[in-house]
Amino acid sequence: MIRLAVLGGGAAGCFAAIQSKELGKENIQITIYEKSKEPLSKVKISGGGRCNVTHHLFEPEDLSKRYPRGEKELRWAFESFGPEDTIEWFRKRGVDLKAEADGRMFPISDNSQTIIDCFLDEIKKKNINLNLELGVSSVFFEPDSVNGKFRLLLENGKEVHYDSILIATGSNRKVWGWMEALGHRIIAPVPSLFTLALENTNITDLTGLSVPLANIRILPKGKPQTGPLLITHWGLSGPAALRLSAWEARHFAETDYKADLEVNWIGSVTFNELETLFSDYKSIHKAVKIINKRLDSIPSRLWEWFLAQTNISGDKRWSDISKQEIRSLSEMITRSRFQMKAKGVFKEEFVTAGGISRKDIDFSTMQSKVVKGIYFAGEVIDVDGITGGFNFQNAWTTATIAAKAISIS
Ligand SMILES: Cc1cc2nc3c(=O)[nH]c(=O)nc-3n(C[C@H](O)[C@H](O)[C@H](O)COP(=O)(O)OP(=O)(O)OC[C@H]3O[C@@H](n4cnc5c(N)ncnc54)[C@H](O)[C@@H]3O)c2cc1C
Repeated sequence: MIRLAVLGGGAAGCFAAIQSKELGKENIQITIYEKSKEPLSKVKISGGGRCNVTHHLFEPEDLSKRYPRGEKELRWAFESFGPEDTIEWFRKRGVDLKAEADGRMFPISDNSQTIIDCFLDEIKKKNINLNLELGVSSVFFEPDSVNGKFRLLLENGKEVHYDSILIATGSNRKVWGWMEALGHRIIAPVPSLFTLALENTNITDLTGLSVPLANIRILPKGKPQTGPLLITHWGLSGPAALRLSAWEARHFAETDYKADLEVNWIGSVTFNELETLFSDYKSIHKAVKIINKRLDSIPSRLWEWFLAQTNISGDKRWSDISKQEIRSLSEMITRSRFQMKAKGVFKEEFVTAGGISRKDIDFSTMQSKVVKGIYFAGEVIDVDGITGGFNFQNAWTTATIAAKAISIS
């Protein structure tokens, strides 16, 4: 009989417990310790209450590119448990998932409670011991103990012993401290997936407008991130802005969320290409007022904003636009500059970059390379994805790999 303690009753902890029991059959005794009143509390609020369970992207190589931290390790991990396995796992338990146009997958009920109920049902059926409002206060490693080499001190003062422990405590600094004391390297945690608050701009007057494909980057040398971009009353949001927040999470933290940003409102169309297009407009749409002939992907109020910024009268005909005006307008659309002053909120998803160093984990088992018998799953590890269901997929994948390894140990 293997005795396993799971620290944390969140997505990764509950899934790892269920999968360990599923794969290990009867020879494993599992206890989950969750310090809060409710298990799976982040699942509950996730995806605006709908729970974006995974992403409709099945090729491990493409999928792993959605992880600013962890790409290399997850590339192989997804071979053993990827989004298709997630979909099948839930389907077998009567929970069908649906994909939205952008690839995000939700339960067809559009209600995160469906996922929670499914997990709690499995936990019950599999006789997993779920302790709520009972956190772990300390972890001691006693390799020579005959009772089990891990001694846990619980919040109720009791001490318990286990052969293996699975750490699924999410972004909890105290737990990282204990793991550091046991010899693991901890990559400093910083927030990821936030919106971009701007200053010294009136673009925020256009709140609610969006473009379908923009490029956004940090000046002078940042890599552009692409996707829909939304203007909010404090700055920029939408997939492109959130992707930038994830890929540049560490840079933003180091500069206290102050940065010069550049936006190309029409994606990868370059300044020169746009200049050529507008020169064509000059001859093709001669008699049309500039205000009335704009780029298809630019909403009319944003087009007016571009014209106002470049002092071009919208009543002018395209035939009368000067070379200099074409240059200014092309520059404004492909290289708008903004000053970021702070990190904004994104209520639908939030994740922490940083955690247990990936170098200290064997990703074929999720076992610690430093202390045998400790396994990790989910956000506690220095792995995080962009928005879209990738963070839960990391939890399902790492939990399953750990479960497989534990069940045969
Ligand atoms: C508002 C919001 C919305 C989100 N929406 C999505 C989404 O739609 N799709 C997506 O992919 N990702 C989403 N995420 C990210 C996702 O929720 C996390 O990546 C995921 O929950 C990580 O799972 P985890 O089990 O590793 O950690 P957690 O879910 O954080 O669980 C850790 C658990 O450990 C417990 N714990 C901590 N310390 C102890 C201790 N000492 N003893 C006992 N228990 C302890 C905590 O109370 C917690 O319940 C969202 C996040 C937020 C904040």
